[in-house]
Amino acid sequence: MANNINSFSVKVATLPLIKVTKDFLALVFFTATYIKVMLHYIDEPEYKGYLHCLKTKKKDCILCQAGRGPQEMFMLPVYNDVADGFGILAVPNNKNIRGLKSQIDRNINDSTPVGLCIRKDTPFTYAVQKYDISQSSFDDEGADEIMEKIEEKYLNVKNCFTRYSEKQLSHIQSIKRMNDIMTGGRAR
Ligand SMILES: [Zn+2]
Repeated sequence: MANNINSFSVKVATLPLIKVTKDFLALVFFTATYIKVMLHYIDEPEYKGYLHCLKTKKKDCILCQAGRGPQEMFMLPVYNDVADGFGILAVPNNKNIRGLKSQIDRNINDSTPVGLCIRKDTPFTYAVQKYDISQSSFDDEGADEIMEKIEEKYLNVKNCFTRYSEKQLSHIQSIKRMNDIMTGGRAR
């Protein structure tokens, strides 16, 4: 387990993103305190996947301006019981009773680690079932260390998603053109 910790001793490192698929994953949840992030899903020849929304109090986001709807995601550090390592689970903001967030929320808490097997059934529905973690290789000291590093800002869970600068985003043709249309073709 020590390897997991050492690998992110560098400044503001992150953990790998855990992909939820149609096959069950066994994850140990040791915190119920989500970290929210705003993302845009991009599916263009230049880039496919999630990118950070760049909107701040002071600055607008080129993706929002191009009419791309931002998506709120709730992130949690978790322990992957089969892969023996920590990672980040990104949970879409969806209140559907069979959605991932409502099913996780019914089971997890901030004080006791909980094991959940998770599988994606359809894009919006998931199977979530509790399992006994007495045989788990869950590393509770490692989990404490992760929580400390997040607190001390040595670990940023949001960094598991790619952040493109405005300049990088303006190289995506469709974004640039839509942004020009939406903003009346003003030079940027
Ligand atoms: Zn945005």
